[in-house]
Amino acid sequence: MTTSETLFARAQELIPGGVNSPVRAFRAVGGAPIFMQSAQGAWLTDVDGNQYVDFINSWGPMILGHAPEVVLDAVRTALPHSLSFGAPTRREVELAELLTAMVPSVEKVRLVNSGTEATMSAVRVARGYTGRAKILKFEGCYHGHGDAFLIAAGSGALTLGAPDSPGVTQGVAQDTLTVPYNDLAAVEAAIAANPDQLAAIIIEPVVGNMGLVEPSLGFLAGLRALCTQHGIVFIFDEVMTGFRLAPGGAQQLYGVVPDMTTLGKIIGGGLPVGAYGGRADIMNQVAPAGKVYQAGTLSGNPLATAAGLAQLRYLHEHPEVYEQLEATSARLADGTRQIAKELGLNYTVNRVGSMFSLFFTPEPVHNLEDAKKADLPAFGRYFHAMLKRGIYLAPSQFEALFVSTAITDELVEKYLLACRESLQEAH
Ligand code: PLP
Repeated sequence: MTTSETLFARAQELIPGGVNSPVRAFRAVGGAPIFMQSAQGAWLTDVDGNQYVDFINSWGPMILGHAPEVVLDAVRTALPHSLSFGAPTRREVELAELLTAMVPSVEKVRLVNSGTEATMSAVRVARGYTGRAKILKFEGCYHGHGDAFLIAAGSGALTLGAPDSPGVTQGVAQDTLTVPYNDLAAVEAAIAANPDQLAAIIIEPVVGNMGLVEPSLGFLAGLRALCTQHGIVFIFDEVMTGFRLAPGGAQQLYGVVPDMTTLGKIIGGGLPVGAYGGRADIMNQVAPAGKVYQAGTLSGNPLATAAGLAQLRYLHEHPEVYEQLEATSARLADGTRQIAKELGLNYTVNRVGSMFSLFFTPEPVHNLEDAKKADLPAFGRYFHAMLKRGIYLAPSQFEALFVSTAITDELVEKYLLACRESLQEAH
């Protein structure tokens, strides 16, 4: 048995499914997850000494690759001062200044500890602000594991076949409406059927959690107009896309400004941070300015803010990062599409910036129903063939690849060679 396998056996005795987040398990593709030891740049090293080129990047946060000096230095500098004060600190103000400067919709912002906290809190604020109960989300979008979002959810919930989680009460579920992604008419119908009842529409402006799915032309702008018309708070969940698709996230890329935005992943530089923010009049509802309650013992943690601030400052001061990511990701995604074509598979490759997916179906993928047409057993074989060749992908068809700045031309070639061989092996 490898050390990984031994650890997984021990973990399964004590931790449900042997993992602390379901997406880490290899349930959908078979086999045991790999236990990691260290990471540097593009490379992961597991507990058995095997190395992999990382296209998960901790599910998004490590946009500069692993262990970037600029982030490590900031954490080292912060470390001796305190692990936590539970009192306000300078860096929280500086991080708020940077977030409001970079993200178009964010006039005021509150730091939390995860993306889930950010989305849960944003919805509560939207409900408090509007005095309405219902929210609308899109099938296959994942907004963390808050009760209100585990209805037709994406990511691990989708992968494991539990998009509607047991444990979510009917009372909660009835306040979450779901419609297909990219279907503006369905949204209009839902609004018409629930007049003056919708507090918020929450959306991944570019979906990463059913594989990568792009908004069709005019979809986001159409939603923006509907929300304005009906007094609905429009929430962009940019936990994945924030600071990844552009310095100001998807809202900058598509030129559509929501009322509220949720953030996570990249803004913590690899440490646990989330944030929600938006229009000042809406955010002023949050306690202690207003009456909508939301709090956190470790919110604004000194190490997390140091890491996040260092990573965001780097991105802010080096906009060329986005050009590099775009060029690298285009080569990876276009190369993948070309290889699939040459092999007669004609599989769909969706890409926006440094996120992309190879769907194991030749049909275009615009929503969850399309994504579900993928040949999942073939994906499973492909995943293992890639892993054998040292390429670390998400163990699910319904997740995107995240490209970091540590992916060099040489690593693009390594990936493409592995992709060709693995696609052949999988079919
Ligand atoms: N929202 C989106 C779009 C996400 O992708 C995720 C996590 O992947 C979340 C929210 C939840 O974030 P966290 O896992 O930090 O709670």
